[in-house]
Amino acid sequence: MAVGLSNPGILPRVGDPVVVEYDGYRPDYCRHCRIYRPPGTRHCSDCDACILGHDHHCVWIGKCAGEGNIKRFYVFVTSVFAMLVVYLFAILNAHKNMVYPAV
Ligand SMILES: [Zn+2]
Ligand SMILES: [Zn+2]
Repeated sequence: MAVGLSNPGILPRVGDPVVVEYDGYRPDYCRHCRIYRPPGTRHCSDCDACILGHDHHCVWIGKCAGEGNIKRFYVFVTSVFAMLVVYLFAILNAHKNMVYPAV
């Protein structure tokens, strides 16, 4: 829930493009957002924004996993996996205790 409400690291769009140098590295220009993006930033066409520390666009949370929410995203993935394991054990246990009719 919290990961779906968090900001993944969307870079704000500014009126005039501003070139920011990072230790001699000249950042890429995003023609969609019209900004120069810092290293590790990628444009997501689904979110229509440049995401700082972009990891991937997740269809389950409906937004990107980026620098702003990657820790919450990992907690989300871990909790979903844990729920799946508990669910599978519950199913296996239910089948073990089930009494099947004699044929
Ligand atoms: Zn962009
Ligand atoms: Zn996205």
